[in-house]
Order: sequence, then C-alpha cells, then structure tokens
Amino acid sequence: MLTDTFGRRHTYLRISLTERCNLRCRYCMPEEGVPLSPRDHLLTFEEIERLARLFVRHGVDKIRLTGGEPLVRQDVEVLVERLGRLDGLRTLAMTTNGLLLPKKLPRLKAAGINLLNISLDTLRPERFTDVTRRQGFDLVLRAIDDALEAGYDPLKVNCVVMRGFNDDELGDFVAMTEAQPIEVRFIEYMPFGGNGWADNVLVPFHEMIARIEERVGPLERIHDGPNETSKTFRVPGFRERVGFITSMSAHFCAGCNRLRLTADGALKVCLFGTAEVSLRDALRAGATDDEMAEIIQAAILRKKAAHAGMHELAASDNRPMILIGG
Ligand code: SAM
Ligand code: SF4
Repeated sequence: MLTDTFGRRHTYLRISLTERCNLRCRYCMPEEGVPLSPRDHLLTFEEIERLARLFVRHGVDKIRLTGGEPLVRQDVEVLVERLGRLDGLRTLAMTTNGLLLPKKLPRLKAAGINLLNISLDTLRPERFTDVTRRQGFDLVLRAIDDALEAGYDPLKVNCVVMRGFNDDELGDFVAMTEAQPIEVRFIEYMPFGGNGWADNVLVPFHEMIARIEERVGPLERIHDGPNETSKTFRVPGFRERVGFITSMSAHFCAGCNRLRLTADGALKVCLFGTAEVSLRDALRAGATDDEMAEIIQAAILRKKAAHAGMHELAASDNRPMILIGG
C-alpha cells in the first residue's frame, strides 16, 4: 500500500490546512491574491483526521501541517491535539511563517508538534516587508527565539533564495548555524502559477555553495538519508547543518516519499504534477475506508518517475504555491 510503480513507498503526508495567509510573499502568490474556495469546500477537522488516520494505517509515519499559513486556521490547536494522538505517527511537523507562533507555540508543542520549520527569507526588516508585502519581521524573529527556547533542536529555517533580492545574505544565514540549533535550508526558487518566476532569478545550488565557500571556506558534506529532499553540509566546527533544496537544478524524485493533501481535499502525488484526485468528494459521497484506500492507491500508481524540467513547469498550469503548501 502507498507504493508506486517505481517502488517508492510513501510515508510522508503534507496536509494544507488553509488557503489563507497573513503574508503575501511574492514568490508564493500573485499580488492580486488567489480566489479562495468557499468554506464548505475545505476539509473539516473530522475529515482531515479521518484521512490522516487512514494514511497512517497504511504506512505514513510523518505528517507536516502547512498552508497557506497553517496558524491562521481557526482552532488549529484542536486539530493538532487530535492528530498528535494518532497511533503510529512518529513525526508531526509544521511549516509556518511564524507570525502567530509566539502566541500558539506552548499548546502546539504540548499537542505533539515535534518538528518545526519557520520560513524567513531575509534578515533585513525592509526587505522582509518588500518580499512579503506585509509587516511582521520582528514577530518572526521572536518566533525563532521562542521555538529555540521551547527546545526544538534543530529548528529549521526555510529561506527561498532569489538573485538580486537576498543572494547577498547567504553568509549571514549560514552564520546562524554556528552556535544555535538552527538548521538553515536554502530553497531554490520554483515556478508556480502567477509567481513571476524567471530562470535568471533562480540561484542554482552549485552557485550558492560557491558563494558560501568564498566566505567561510570549504563546506563539509553530510550523508543524506534515502528520502531526504535536502543536500546537507556543515561549516566545519559549526553546531548545525545547512541544507539545499535543489528541486530545480538537481531534482530528487527518485527518493520521493511525499504525498500532498490540499486544503480543499485534493490528493497530489507530486508537488509539480497537475494531476489531482478529490478525496473530499469521495468522502462526502460516502466512501468506506477500504474504498478510500483504493482511490489513494490508484492515484499513487499513476505517479510519474520524475517531474518535468523547470521551463516546462514554468509554462504549466499548476496551482499557485499558496494553494499547495510546499
Ligand atoms: N505559510 C507557511 C510558510 O511560509 O512557511 C507554510 C506554507 S509555504 C507555501 C511553505 C514553504 O514553501 C515556505 O517555506 C515557502 O518559503 C516555500 N515556498 C513558497 N513559494 C515558493 C517558491 N516559489 N519556490 C520555493 N519555495 C517556495
Ligand atoms: Fe504565506 Fe507562506 Fe506563501 Fe508566504 S510562503 S505567502 S507566508 S503561504
């Protein structure tokens, strides 16, 4: 179950909790916003819990909650508490922009969030406002401090790298890994519906490495697990690691073990694939757990070996990132 025709076993499910966000990041969503689904098109907590339980019964042991911004979903703590009780789930993770985290962290941690990624693309307040089209820089820094204080080790910080915007800050981000339990993950800028992607804004992984090494000297390569999306390195002597998500310059489809559930209940077997199956419609039509399992397995069997190249992706009509969740 959950194995595709290339032998990839899917043990990691990313669930988007909302299409809404309290930021408007340029690389994630178009300036005019995205058309939001009517409220009753979104999965309820009961539906999310039922699907999560089904996936876990069939081998998923890691769930990541994402969005939009997962923390703007009303009563998110209640859902986390329910998911935190699923037998067989080893990792319950969240990716957040951090704005609402200082308020919600204690309850989320108690409910079982045991892995946290906070997104931050710049360490300069004016650039933050420029890229997110909103205020909130100080809150994100506070969220990072609070998460460290709460004992997340490592705390992951996601940084989308864009030429001419923040590529002069690579070294400053790497410096965060020196003494604190912060793993920085540099993400290659990816094309999605309406995000104005251009290949000259993408900074490929090898260029990032070269520019970091100019500043700190040779990086040490760390062995990655078979399903790792990130290529990991360390500055010799530094406490934490630096990862690179190289979806554009060197895809990692061969080890892909991820499935995605959008806030409106569509199963996506590939981040960049436009094929979707509505699990919401099947649930609401009264499918049993066994029938749901068959629908999910059939979708997984249609998963391709690898996603298309970046120029083809830029021309495809995938959802904007905010409606997928990363
Ligand atoms: N709102 C949350 C956040 O920002 O962390 C969760 C959702 S967000 C869509 C998940 C991740 O996708 C974030 O780390 C974000 O930086 C990343 N992301 C969004 N658009 C991207 C793009 N075009 N290329 C690469 N990463 C992107
Ligand atoms: Fe919101 Fe996250 Fe997208 Fe930024 S990257 S607009 S914080 S969903």
